Amino acid sequence: MTALFCPKCGNNADVFYENVCKNCFIKDKKLLECPAVLFAKICPVCGSVYKRGKWSTKEDESETIIECVKGSLKLDNQVSDLDITLSPKQLDYSRYRVHIDAKAMIKGMPVEIEQDTEVRISWETCDTCSRISGGYFEGIVQVRAEKRIPTKEELGRCKDIAESVSARSQEKGDRLAFIAKTEELGEGTDFYVGSIKLGKQICRAVIDVFGGKFTESPKLVGQKNGEDLYRITYALRLPEFVRGDIISADDRVIEVQTCGKHVSGIDLETGKRFIENFNDLIQVKKLCRSQDAVSAVLVADEGKTIQVMDPDTYESITIRRPEFLSAEPGNEIKIVKTAKGIFVVPEKITF
Ligand SMILES: [Zn+2]
Ligand SMILES: [Zn+2]
Repeated sequence: MTALFCPKCGNNADVFYENVCKNCFIKDKKLLECPAVLFAKICPVCGSVYKRGKWSTKEDESETIIECVKGSLKLDNQVSDLDITLSPKQLDYSRYRVHIDAKAMIKGMPVEIEQDTEVRISWETCDTCSRISGGYFEGIVQVRAEKRIPTKEELGRCKDIAESVSARSQEKGDRLAFIAKTEELGEGTDFYVGSIKLGKQICRAVIDVFGGKFTESPKLVGQKNGEDLYRITYALRLPEFVRGDIISADDRVIEVQTCGKHVSGIDLETGKRFIENFNDLIQVKKLCRSQDAVSAVLVADEGKTIQVMDPDTYESITIRRPEFLSAEPGNEIKIVKTAKGIFVVPEKITF
């Protein structure tokens, strides 16, 4: 039997890997290679990270660092069962040391390697932040209300909606879905939006909550690379009536709960729930607000009708008994006096 020996080191061996012994084979193999210094680009304003040729959403900084190292590792192509641990340690504001600990098999042989690399962050303002700081916008969403001034609550809610729509779109990768500026005016609020798409999304989201409608008007603002450049103004109109308004809707008197494409609320004469398509109503007019209600004495309850004492004239007035009434004769109830007569207002709106 001939003794086999390794042509490289001359030692006896019985198993060969690529014609050399086990030790020589491993010595030649580099499990992985990683540059000693790496760079990660992060926006100092918003934290966006530059990856694979484009800016993407902000993430945890150490995650960026780990990903940066992972992306730069060169593995031996015979490696299997790889197990890598990367432990980043922040050195200062823009430097991390990352310890790499890797275990794997090369052709059935366990190999292990330990190495350090340094990741340096280069702080660079991203495309979106430079657009914002340059005053760039593609559209204006003008929030107003039909035949009235929007309430503070409505405008606050609209702002929340606009911001969350913008955040959601940015998370989904639409980097132009930013609000460049919010202007609070006497008659409403203007949102300057980074993209036309965002303008439309905000309008739709607000209308989903409040009802109302919007129109778009494009305006030519110049040219870029031979193409016309437009800015779009979205005129968003919140509905004329809000919750708590008491309106006459054709022959009925309604305390409004919601008003959009549909008007819903309580028919104050019958006490029944009311819902109608706004456009199907011919004569709609605001009479007063439910906050305008005053106290009055319920004089008598006759089942189908009740008698209420008019607090101004002390006269007893007979009106239809609304379904929601639970007071007993002698009790005080809340009423409104309107151009359409006296109506009981429910103490609390319950549906
Ligand atoms: Zn050898
Ligand atoms: Zn940025």
